Amino acid sequence: MIDTVLRSLGLGESNPGVCGVEWSDSPGGAEVASINPATGRALGRVRMGSIADYGRVADEARAAFEGWRKVPAPARGEVIRQFGQALRERKRELGLLVTLESGKIRSEGEGEVQEMIDMCDFAVGLSRQLHGLTIASERPGHRMIEQWHPIGPVGIITAFNFPVAVWAWNAAVAAVCGDSTVWKPSPETPLTAVAVQKIAHEIARANGCPGVFALCAGDVEIGEAIANDVRLPLVSATGSCRMGRSMARAVAGRLGRSLLELGGNNAVIVTPRADLDLALRAVVFAAVGTAGQRCTTLRRLILHESIAAPFLERLKRAYASIKIGDPWEDGVLMGPLINERAVGVMMAALDAARSQGGTILQGGHRLDRPGFFVESTIVRADPSMPIVGEETFAPILYAMTYRDLDEALAIQNGVEQGLASAIFTDSVVESERFLSAEGSDCGIANVNIGTSGAEIGGAFGGEKATGGGREAGSDSWKAYMRRQTCTINGGKDLPLAQGVRFEISDGR
Ligand code: NAD
Repeated sequence: MIDTVLRSLGLGESNPGVCGVEWSDSPGGAEVASINPATGRALGRVRMGSIADYGRVADEARAAFEGWRKVPAPARGEVIRQFGQALRERKRELGLLVTLESGKIRSEGEGEVQEMIDMCDFAVGLSRQLHGLTIASERPGHRMIEQWHPIGPVGIITAFNFPVAVWAWNAAVAAVCGDSTVWKPSPETPLTAVAVQKIAHEIARANGCPGVFALCAGDVEIGEAIANDVRLPLVSATGSCRMGRSMARAVAGRLGRSLLELGGNNAVIVTPRADLDLALRAVVFAAVGTAGQRCTTLRRLILHESIAAPFLERLKRAYASIKIGDPWEDGVLMGPLINERAVGVMMAALDAARSQGGTILQGGHRLDRPGFFVESTIVRADPSMPIVGEETFAPILYAMTYRDLDEALAIQNGVEQGLASAIFTDSVVESERFLSAEGSDCGIANVNIGTSGAEIGGAFGGEKATGGGREAGSDSWKAYMRRQTCTINGGKDLPLAQGVRFEISDGR
């Protein structure tokens, strides 16, 4: 079955991970095994790019950009329409590969491919709506406009937990904006990246624009090459806050632009006015789904003290009913963590929680089976515990209590990250307070739905240490273009702005 999936996507035992105008036959980097986290066994191998390979691919992406920027935006949209159609045709196999390589359950694997398709549809519409402005000029006979041009080749660095959807957020929009892209995927999920690149490259070649989508698989050294590469005016990087700090420094050092989508430490507030059945379902999906490996995973549950004890009892029973196992199997709701290291990080976080005064209410163990499986875990915690301020990329939920909404908001906002947040309440007063300027300080603030599972139509991203970037919907496309303000004089006089006078005589 695994072989059938890999073969149907054109993958073999060893696959080149470098593609610019053409696939490279023999990339110069290490050959890396892609591990199925549900078994610990290799699925296949990918040959990574060397710095020299990266340099060549970035040159080719630069050259491709010079042609692509002249193609009318709706014609660029047509290429993305074809790409979206090709993804529709491969949705099942690609979704299975996401499941195999990242350990997400099957419906989430397919959901990830659906997200790419949605992004393509969105970008096709956008290709006819890259609108500028006309602005009233203060000078007679003058006209001002604001227009948007392609910015250049864009570097895209992605994380393992959304191995392809986040690339599509960037690549589909960048392509209709007239930019080529150079993608460095996570070294944990290189096969999915190669499979998607094969489809994107085929579509680009068939449309006479090879090199518009480029790939250079690799580890941190390729990411650093992207960060320092003056050929890339924009770098969009998704990953941990640690990666983002290093990326921000490097890109700012060359006065480039970075778009950062970094770690979250997301919270849900459940008030006494909440529909507790709704809150329970949302909390479990947000905290346990994807084995706690979403940037928007619920990590901090802030319960009003009057409802905390019964709510936690129900939550423990719901956790106990979650089927953990092979993400291929029907009925399984939680798969494995990505690797052995992630299991170690989770266990270390639980040790820290215990030593800081936390109590494990549910779970806390590794499962005794091959692969990287753990129990979904609830810890009774206090907001002052340092570990609660950290993003541990695993299914640990810290449960805390509050007395009034001011305190709940202070707890919710009292961490360095600012990605996703939610309140459960039937009170319009409470929900409006939560959404007000003195409410949640996050990029995403929801009412009566959980923190994870965003739609692509909105701008996605977070504040503070989450990096401030926005991707996907709304007007996020503006990050992928350069803005130009133009003043056009259609008259015979040359009046100056602000009434400044500057008369000259040339003796005539
Ligand atoms: P990671 O930071 O380890 O790696 C992310 C990517 O950055 C990988 O491709 C990696 O090779 C590269 N990288 C790492 N250090 C680098 C450096 N110094 N210079 C250049 N590149 C570097 O993250 P991960 O473990 O793959 O993913 C989990 C993290 O990603 C979590 O913190 C999660 O919250 C975050 N994430 C955020 C979003 C978002 O939209 N905000 C989405 C998905 C994941």
